Amino acid sequence: MRVLVADDDFGSRLVAQAAVEQSGHECIPAADGAIAWELYQRYRPQVVVSDLEMPGMDGLALCRAIRAAETDSYTYLVLVTSHGSQDAVVAGMNAGADDYMTKPLDPFTLHTRLLVAERVTSLHADLARYRAALAEQARTDPLTKLRNRLTLAEDLEQLRETAEHAGEQFSVVLCDVDYFKRYNDLYGHQAGDAALQAVADTLAAQVRQSDGVYRFGGEEFLIVLPRQSPSGARAFMTRAFEAVRGLGIAHTGNPPGVLTLSGGIAACTNSHRVSVDTLLHEADLALYGAKASGRNRVMVSRPHTAGLAVHSGK
Ligand code: GH3
Ligand code: MG
Ligand code: MG
Ligand code: MG
Repeated sequence: MRVLVADDDFGSRLVAQAAVEQSGHECIPAADGAIAWELYQRYRPQVVVSDLEMPGMDGLALCRAIRAAETDSYTYLVLVTSHGSQDAVVAGMNAGADDYMTKPLDPFTLHTRLLVAERVTSLHADLARYRAALAEQARTDPLTKLRNRLTLAEDLEQLRETAEHAGEQFSVVLCDVDYFKRYNDLYGHQAGDAALQAVADTLAAQVRQSDGVYRFGGEEFLIVLPRQSPSGARAFMTRAFEAVRGLGIAHTGNPPGVLTLSGGIAACTNSHRVSVDTLLHEADLALYGAKASGRNRVMVSRPHTAGLAVHSGK
Protein backbone atom coordinates (compact mmCIF):
# COMPACT_ATOMS: atom_id res chain seq x y z
CA MET A 1 0.00 0.00 0.00
CA ARG A 2 0.92 3.64 -0.35
CA VAL A 3 0.90 5.26 3.10
CA LEU A 4 1.01 9.02 3.58
CA VAL A 5 2.50 10.10 6.93
CA ALA A 6 1.73 13.68 7.94
CA ASP A 7 3.49 15.08 10.98
CA ASP A 8 5.14 18.44 11.61
CA ASP A 9 7.48 16.85 14.15
CA PHE A 10 10.55 15.49 12.36
CA GLY A 11 11.26 12.75 14.94
CA SER A 12 7.69 11.39 14.99
CA ARG A 13 7.61 11.46 11.22
CA LEU A 14 10.82 9.48 11.01
CA VAL A 15 9.56 6.83 13.47
CA ALA A 16 6.30 6.48 11.50
CA GLN A 17 8.12 6.30 8.18
CA ALA A 18 10.43 3.54 9.45
CA ALA A 19 7.45 1.57 10.80
CA VAL A 20 5.54 1.89 7.52
CA GLU A 21 8.53 0.76 5.47
CA GLN A 22 9.30 -2.10 7.84
CA SER A 23 5.71 -3.28 7.35
CA GLY A 24 6.49 -3.54 3.64
CA HIS A 25 4.63 -0.45 2.45
CA GLU A 26 5.63 2.63 0.53
CA CYS A 27 5.78 5.80 2.64
CA ILE A 28 5.08 9.34 1.48
CA PRO A 29 6.19 11.75 4.26
CA ALA A 30 4.63 15.21 4.62
CA ALA A 31 5.90 17.93 6.98
CA ASP A 32 2.51 19.62 7.46
CA GLY A 33 -1.20 19.38 6.61
CA ALA A 34 -1.08 21.51 3.47
CA ILE A 35 1.77 19.48 1.99
CA ALA A 36 -0.06 16.27 2.99
CA TRP A 37 -3.21 17.44 1.19
CA GLU A 38 -1.22 18.23 -1.93
CA LEU A 39 0.56 14.86 -1.86
CA TYR A 40 -2.73 13.07 -1.18
CA GLN A 41 -4.26 14.53 -4.33
CA ARG A 42 -1.21 13.65 -6.38
CA TYR A 43 -0.58 10.08 -5.16
CA ARG A 44 -3.99 8.95 -3.83
CA PRO A 45 -2.51 6.79 -1.03
CA GLN A 46 -4.61 3.95 0.41
CA VAL A 47 -3.72 5.00 3.99
CA VAL A 48 -3.11 8.36 5.67
CA VAL A 49 -1.52 8.47 9.12
CA SER A 50 -1.90 12.05 10.26
CA ASP A 51 -0.84 14.00 13.29
CA LEU A 52 -3.80 15.85 14.82
CA GLU A 53 -2.01 19.06 15.64
CA MET A 54 -0.15 20.67 12.78
CA PRO A 55 0.27 24.33 11.85
CA GLY A 56 -2.01 25.54 9.04
CA MET A 57 -4.17 22.62 7.96
CA ASP A 58 -4.55 20.34 10.97
CA GLY A 59 -5.41 16.64 11.10
CA LEU A 60 -9.17 17.27 11.33
CA ALA A 61 -9.20 19.54 8.29
CA LEU A 62 -7.09 17.01 6.39
CA CYS A 63 -9.53 14.20 7.27
CA ARG A 64 -12.50 16.25 6.10
CA ALA A 65 -10.81 17.28 2.87
CA ILE A 66 -9.88 13.69 2.05
CA ARG A 67 -13.37 12.34 2.76
CA ALA A 68 -14.93 15.05 0.59
CA ALA A 69 -12.53 14.30 -2.27
CA GLU A 70 -13.07 10.53 -2.33
CA THR A 71 -15.06 9.15 -5.22
CA ASP A 72 -14.82 5.41 -5.76
CA SER A 73 -11.76 4.66 -3.61
CA TYR A 74 -11.54 4.59 0.16
CA THR A 75 -8.72 6.04 2.20
CA TYR A 76 -8.05 4.49 5.60
CA LEU A 77 -7.40 7.39 7.98
CA VAL A 78 -5.47 7.04 11.23
CA LEU A 79 -5.16 10.10 13.47
CA VAL A 80 -2.24 10.48 15.82
CA THR A 81 -2.96 12.50 18.96
CA SER A 82 -0.34 13.82 21.30
CA HIS A 83 -2.43 14.05 24.43
CA GLY A 84 -4.96 11.31 23.96
CA SER A 85 -7.82 13.55 24.96
CA GLN A 86 -11.11 11.76 24.36
CA ASP A 87 -12.73 14.88 22.92
CA ALA A 88 -9.98 15.20 20.31
CA VAL A 89 -10.36 11.52 19.41
CA VAL A 90 -14.15 11.82 19.00
CA ALA A 91 -13.74 14.99 16.90
CA GLY A 92 -11.27 13.09 14.72
CA MET A 93 -13.60 10.13 14.24
CA ASN A 94 -16.44 12.54 13.38
CA ALA A 95 -14.20 14.22 10.83
CA GLY A 96 -13.86 10.86 9.08
CA ALA A 97 -10.94 9.09 10.78
CA ASP A 98 -11.11 5.27 10.97
CA ASP A 99 -8.82 4.86 13.96
CA TYR A 100 -6.42 6.73 16.20
CA MET A 101 -3.12 6.23 17.95
CA THR A 102 -1.47 8.17 20.74
CA LYS A 103 2.03 9.59 20.80
CA PRO A 104 4.74 8.52 21.24
CA LEU A 105 4.05 6.42 18.20
CA ASP A 106 4.69 2.73 18.75
CA PRO A 107 5.89 0.95 15.54
CA PHE A 108 4.15 -2.32 16.46
CA THR A 109 0.80 -0.57 16.99
CA LEU A 110 1.17 1.17 13.64
CA HIS A 111 1.99 -2.17 12.04
CA THR A 112 -1.29 -3.68 13.35
CA ARG A 113 -3.26 -0.61 12.19
CA LEU A 114 -1.83 -1.11 8.70
CA LEU A 115 -2.99 -4.74 8.71
CA VAL A 116 -6.54 -3.56 9.40
CA ALA A 117 -6.15 -0.80 6.80
CA GLU A 118 -5.14 -3.37 4.20
CA ARG A 119 -8.24 -5.46 4.89
CA VAL A 120 -10.63 -2.49 4.89
CA THR A 121 -9.25 -0.84 1.76
CA SER A 122 -9.22 -4.09 -0.21
CA LEU A 123 -12.85 -4.66 0.84
CA HIS A 124 -13.72 -1.20 -0.44
CA ALA A 125 -11.87 -1.89 -3.70
CA ASP A 126 -13.91 -5.10 -4.11
CA LEU A 127 -17.12 -3.17 -3.48
CA ALA A 128 -16.17 -0.53 -6.03
CA ARG A 129 -15.49 -3.26 -8.60
CA TYR A 130 -18.86 -4.94 -7.92
CA ARG A 131 -20.62 -1.59 -8.11
CA ALA A 132 -19.03 -0.82 -11.47
CA ALA A 133 -19.87 -4.30 -12.79
CA LEU A 134 -23.49 -3.95 -11.66
CA ALA A 135 -23.80 -0.51 -13.22
CA GLU A 136 -22.39 -1.92 -16.45
CA GLN A 137 -24.81 -4.86 -16.29
CA ALA A 138 -27.79 -2.56 -15.76
CA ARG A 139 -26.89 -0.81 -19.01
CA THR A 140 -26.23 -3.85 -21.15
CA ASP A 141 -28.65 -6.19 -22.87
CA PRO A 142 -27.64 -9.72 -21.82
CA LEU A 143 -28.55 -11.42 -25.14
CA THR A 144 -26.89 -9.10 -27.64
CA LYS A 145 -24.41 -7.32 -25.34
CA LEU A 146 -25.62 -4.07 -26.86
CA ARG A 147 -26.44 -1.06 -24.72
CA ASN A 148 -30.04 -1.21 -23.54
CA ARG A 149 -32.90 1.24 -23.43
CA LEU A 150 -31.86 2.73 -20.10
CA THR A 151 -28.52 3.76 -21.57
CA LEU A 152 -30.26 4.98 -24.72
CA ALA A 153 -32.52 7.35 -22.78
CA GLU A 154 -29.48 8.94 -21.11
CA ASP A 155 -27.28 9.03 -24.21
CA LEU A 156 -29.99 10.39 -26.49
CA GLU A 157 -30.98 13.20 -24.14
CA GLN A 158 -27.33 14.18 -23.83
CA LEU A 159 -26.78 14.06 -27.58
CA ARG A 160 -29.90 16.16 -28.18
CA GLU A 161 -28.60 18.82 -25.81
CA THR A 162 -25.03 18.95 -27.13
CA ALA A 163 -26.27 18.94 -30.75
CA GLU A 164 -28.64 21.82 -30.04
CA HIS A 165 -25.84 23.73 -28.32
CA ALA A 166 -23.46 23.19 -31.24
CA GLY A 167 -26.15 23.76 -33.88
CA GLU A 168 -25.52 20.25 -35.20
CA GLN A 169 -27.90 17.68 -36.62
CA PHE A 170 -28.14 13.98 -35.79
CA SER A 171 -30.25 11.06 -36.95
CA VAL A 172 -31.74 7.99 -35.32
CA VAL A 173 -32.92 4.81 -37.02
CA LEU A 174 -35.45 2.45 -35.50
CA CYS A 175 -34.86 -1.01 -36.99
CA ASP A 176 -37.19 -3.98 -36.71
CA VAL A 177 -36.68 -7.56 -37.91
CA ASP A 178 -39.22 -8.52 -40.58
CA TYR A 179 -41.66 -11.33 -39.81
CA PHE A 180 -39.73 -12.35 -36.75
CA LYS A 181 -42.65 -14.01 -35.05
CA ARG A 182 -42.81 -16.36 -38.05
CA TYR A 183 -39.06 -16.90 -37.75
CA ASN A 184 -39.48 -18.12 -34.18
CA ASP A 185 -42.42 -20.28 -35.22
CA LEU A 186 -40.46 -21.81 -38.10
CA TYR A 187 -37.03 -22.26 -36.53
CA GLY A 188 -37.58 -22.14 -32.79
CA HIS A 189 -36.89 -19.54 -30.12
CA GLN A 190 -33.25 -20.54 -29.70
CA ALA A 191 -32.56 -19.98 -33.39
CA GLY A 192 -34.42 -16.69 -32.99
CA ASP A 193 -32.05 -15.67 -30.21
CA ALA A 194 -29.03 -16.58 -32.31
CA ALA A 195 -30.43 -14.58 -35.24
CA LEU A 196 -30.89 -11.51 -33.02
CA GLN A 197 -27.29 -11.85 -31.82
CA ALA A 198 -26.04 -12.06 -35.42
CA VAL A 199 -28.09 -9.01 -36.43
CA ALA A 200 -26.80 -7.07 -33.40
CA ASP A 201 -23.16 -7.97 -34.17
CA THR A 202 -23.58 -7.00 -37.81
CA LEU A 203 -25.17 -3.63 -37.03
CA ALA A 204 -22.52 -2.92 -34.40
CA ALA A 205 -19.77 -3.76 -36.91
CA GLN A 206 -21.23 -1.32 -39.45
CA VAL A 207 -21.26 1.82 -37.31
CA ARG A 208 -18.49 4.28 -36.59
CA GLN A 209 -16.92 4.68 -33.15
CA SER A 210 -19.08 7.71 -32.37
CA ASP A 211 -22.34 6.03 -33.44
CA GLY A 212 -24.46 3.97 -31.06
CA VAL A 213 -26.40 0.73 -31.48
CA TYR A 214 -28.96 -0.13 -28.80
CA ARG A 215 -31.40 -2.95 -28.26
CA PHE A 216 -34.63 -1.01 -28.19
CA GLY A 217 -37.01 -3.89 -27.51
CA GLY A 218 -37.53 -7.54 -28.48
CA GLU A 219 -36.46 -7.56 -32.15
CA GLU A 220 -36.00 -3.82 -32.42
CA PHE A 221 -32.72 -1.92 -32.51
CA LEU A 222 -32.06 1.78 -32.41
CA ILE A 223 -29.07 3.27 -34.17
CA VAL A 224 -27.89 6.75 -33.20
CA LEU A 225 -25.88 8.66 -35.78
CA PRO A 226 -24.37 11.91 -34.44
CA ARG A 227 -23.88 14.71 -37.02
CA GLN A 228 -25.62 12.61 -39.66
CA SER A 229 -28.26 14.11 -41.99
CA PRO A 230 -31.42 12.11 -42.78
CA SER A 231 -30.17 11.39 -46.30
CA GLY A 232 -26.73 10.41 -44.99
CA ALA A 233 -28.42 8.13 -42.47
CA ARG A 234 -30.46 6.60 -45.27
CA ALA A 235 -27.37 5.84 -47.38
CA PHE A 236 -25.65 4.36 -44.32
CA MET A 237 -28.65 2.22 -43.36
CA THR A 238 -29.06 0.92 -46.89
CA ARG A 239 -25.52 -0.51 -46.58
CA ALA A 240 -26.13 -1.80 -43.06
CA PHE A 241 -29.33 -3.61 -44.09
CA GLU A 242 -27.46 -5.04 -47.07
CA ALA A 243 -24.91 -6.47 -44.61
CA VAL A 244 -27.70 -8.07 -42.55
CA ARG A 245 -29.24 -9.61 -45.69
CA GLY A 246 -25.72 -10.73 -46.59
CA LEU A 247 -25.67 -12.89 -43.46
CA GLY A 248 -27.99 -15.15 -45.45
CA ILE A 249 -30.00 -16.29 -42.43
CA ALA A 250 -32.64 -18.46 -44.10
CA HIS A 251 -36.22 -17.30 -43.43
CA THR A 252 -38.81 -19.02 -45.60
CA GLY A 253 -41.57 -16.98 -43.99
CA ASN A 254 -40.09 -13.75 -45.43
CA PRO A 255 -40.49 -13.07 -49.20
CA PRO A 256 -36.73 -12.40 -49.80
CA GLY A 257 -36.01 -15.85 -48.32
CA VAL A 258 -33.51 -14.50 -45.79
CA LEU A 259 -33.77 -12.46 -42.62
CA THR A 260 -34.28 -8.74 -43.36
CA LEU A 261 -34.84 -5.52 -41.45
CA SER A 262 -37.08 -2.53 -41.92
CA GLY A 263 -36.05 0.87 -40.62
CA GLY A 264 -37.46 4.29 -39.91
CA ILE A 265 -35.21 7.36 -39.81
CA ALA A 266 -35.91 10.52 -37.82
CA ALA A 267 -33.60 13.45 -37.27
CA CYS A 268 -32.99 16.54 -35.21
CA THR A 269 -31.86 19.35 -37.49
CA ASN A 270 -31.61 23.12 -37.14
CA SER A 271 -35.04 23.49 -38.74
CA HIS A 272 -36.51 20.59 -36.77
CA ARG A 273 -35.41 20.62 -33.11
CA VAL A 274 -37.75 18.16 -31.44
CA SER A 275 -37.75 16.35 -28.10
CA VAL A 276 -36.37 12.84 -27.76
CA ASP A 277 -39.92 11.51 -27.37
CA THR A 278 -41.07 13.19 -30.58
CA LEU A 279 -37.95 12.01 -32.39
CA LEU A 280 -38.60 8.38 -31.40
CA HIS A 281 -42.26 8.75 -32.32
CA GLU A 282 -41.29 10.04 -35.76
CA ALA A 283 -38.84 7.17 -36.24
CA ASP A 284 -41.61 4.76 -35.25
CA LEU A 285 -44.00 6.30 -37.82
CA ALA A 286 -41.33 6.05 -40.53
CA LEU A 287 -40.74 2.42 -39.56
CA TYR A 288 -44.46 1.78 -39.82
CA GLY A 289 -44.31 3.30 -43.32
CA ALA A 290 -41.44 0.97 -44.27
CA LYS A 291 -43.41 -2.04 -43.01
CA ALA A 292 -46.58 -0.95 -44.79
CA SER A 293 -44.83 -0.41 -48.10
CA GLY A 294 -43.38 -3.90 -48.25
CA ARG A 295 -40.68 -4.29 -45.49
CA ASN A 296 -36.94 -4.87 -46.20
CA ARG A 297 -36.38 -1.13 -46.64
CA VAL A 298 -35.63 2.08 -44.76
CA MET A 299 -37.79 5.19 -44.84
CA VAL A 300 -37.16 8.74 -43.69
CA SER A 301 -39.77 10.41 -41.48
CA ARG A 302 -42.16 12.90 -43.04
CA PRO A 303 -40.72 16.18 -41.63
CA HIS A 304 -37.60 15.53 -43.75
CA THR A 305 -39.32 14.28 -46.86
CA ALA A 306 -42.18 16.79 -47.17
CA GLY A 307 -42.47 17.79 -50.82
CA LEU A 308 -40.02 15.07 -51.88
CA ALA A 309 -40.71 11.73 -53.43
CA VAL A 310 -41.03 9.05 -50.76
CA HIS A 311 -37.64 7.49 -50.14
CA SER A 312 -37.24 3.80 -50.29
CA GLY A 313 -33.80 2.57 -49.44
CA LYS A 314 -34.56 -0.85 -50.73
P1 GH3 B 1 -43.14 -7.38 -38.54
O1 GH3 B 1 -42.50 -7.74 -39.83
O2 GH3 B 1 -44.39 -6.60 -38.75
O3 GH3 B 1 -42.20 -6.71 -37.65
O4 GH3 B 1 -43.59 -8.76 -37.87
P2 GH3 B 1 -42.96 -9.45 -36.60
O5 GH3 B 1 -43.44 -10.85 -36.57
O6 GH3 B 1 -41.47 -9.28 -36.60
O7 GH3 B 1 -43.51 -8.58 -35.43
P3 GH3 B 1 -44.21 -8.97 -34.10
O8 GH3 B 1 -44.14 -7.75 -33.23
O9 GH3 B 1 -45.57 -9.54 -34.37
O10 GH3 B 1 -43.31 -10.10 -33.46
C1 GH3 B 1 -42.09 -9.85 -32.88
C2 GH3 B 1 -41.55 -11.17 -32.42
O11 GH3 B 1 -40.24 -11.06 -31.86
C3 GH3 B 1 -42.43 -11.76 -31.32
C4 GH3 B 1 -41.44 -12.22 -30.27
O12 GH3 B 1 -41.64 -13.55 -29.90
C5 GH3 B 1 -40.10 -12.09 -30.94
N1 GH3 B 1 -39.05 -11.76 -29.97
C6 GH3 B 1 -38.93 -10.64 -29.23
N2 GH3 B 1 -37.83 -10.71 -28.45
C7 GH3 B 1 -37.25 -11.91 -28.71
C8 GH3 B 1 -36.08 -12.56 -28.20
O13 GH3 B 1 -35.33 -12.05 -27.36
N3 GH3 B 1 -35.78 -13.77 -28.70
C9 GH3 B 1 -36.57 -14.38 -29.65
N4 GH3 B 1 -36.20 -15.57 -30.09
N5 GH3 B 1 -37.68 -13.80 -30.12
C10 GH3 B 1 -38.02 -12.58 -29.66
MG1 MG C 1 2.08 18.17 15.58
MG1 MG D 1 -41.34 -5.21 -33.46
MG1 MG E 1 -40.69 -7.34 -36.44
